[in-house]
Amino acid sequence: NRQIHLVSRPTGEATADNFKLVEATVPDELQDGQVLVRHHYLSLDPYMRGRMNDTKSYTAPQALNEVMGGGTVGEVVASKNSGFAVGDKVVGMGGWQEYQLLSGDLRGTLRKVSTEHVPLQAYLGAVGMPGVTAWYGLTQIIAPKEGNTVLVSAASGAVGTVVGQLAKVRGARAVGIAGGPEKCRFVTEELGFDACIDYKQHTDLKSLSQALKQACPNGIDGVFENVGGLGLDAALQRMNAFGRIALCGMIAGYNGEPIPLQQPQLLLTNRLRLEGFIVSEHMELWPQALTELATLVGTGKLKYRESIADGLAAAPEAFLGLLKGRNFGKQLVKLI
Ligand code: NDP
Repeated sequence: NRQIHLVSRPTGEATADNFKLVEATVPDELQDGQVLVRHHYLSLDPYMRGRMNDTKSYTAPQALNEVMGGGTVGEVVASKNSGFAVGDKVVGMGGWQEYQLLSGDLRGTLRKVSTEHVPLQAYLGAVGMPGVTAWYGLTQIIAPKEGNTVLVSAASGAVGTVVGQLAKVRGARAVGIAGGPEKCRFVTEELGFDACIDYKQHTDLKSLSQALKQACPNGIDGVFENVGGLGLDAALQRMNAFGRIALCGMIAGYNGEPIPLQQPQLLLTNRLRLEGFIVSEHMELWPQALTELATLVGTGKLKYRESIADGLAAAPEAFLGLLKGRNFGKQLVKLI
């Protein structure tokens, strides 16, 4: 059982040296109550960057010299637990390792899933935490009415892809912001967004704001913010009165760079509502969200894309790439 541990904390940008590949063992015989899961995929997510720091946040920091935490999907390969049988497909928080040994009451820790209509790894993306994040911010904070315009940043990513498509399902107009022509083409042509702005072509506020004006002729009613910085400043300039901003992430500042808001007075003059949220604090809504997401994926109405790194040893580089926008869609690591 190979594992990746966090061995040091970054100052500024994270590097591969912060991680170490470690050989560990799995038991030959299980004890009563134990389950052994072989991971097929692990999920790489931007929040992991925050956990690498030893600072107070909404989750505890990742402990040093322990397995990096993270979402996983896999298959039960041995079980002495009445709740799980060999062959069960499961979603858990097994972390950056090939196998996970669990025991005791696993309700809330390990969840059986059906792969009849939904591919296993989608439970880490569109039908998992990123999907629920999109669902929560869109339906509970932005709550678009038919004909509203919803803007989403990091639009080709795990969360962003779902936000725009859910907005379309609700009769809204979906506009994305993404980095590069290829990502933008995917967002409009494959996902069906009404427009997508390549922020790399608009590097100052005036130009980005002008591009938003063109893409959103009726103004913006809802912003699903994943990045922070210039995109949010430009969006604020184009928002309609009483618009809603779901503040989901500010990845532009995850290495510690300051990302000040240039015109906060626009929140007041346009009577905007800005609300941050953490998806794991709304577990009561997960079943409802997952039901809608699984149905949409199962019927082919919700599309997504994956970047897949091969093998556990590739996880650190893939993770560092995710923090630089080198991923294109949900970033996964394939273990078998
Ligand atoms: P993505 O799959 O969207 O990957 C991150 C993307 O961010 C990159 O591909 C890149 O796309 C974009 N990006 C834009 N600007 C920058 C920048 N300055 N530095 C690095 N990347 C940049 O990730 P997720 O969909 O998993 O997450 C999206 C956001 O949602 C993140 O901010 C994350 O922290 C947040 N989140 C929040 C949750 C919550 O509970 N509040 C839960 C889950 C996620 P591009 O090339 O287009 O720039």
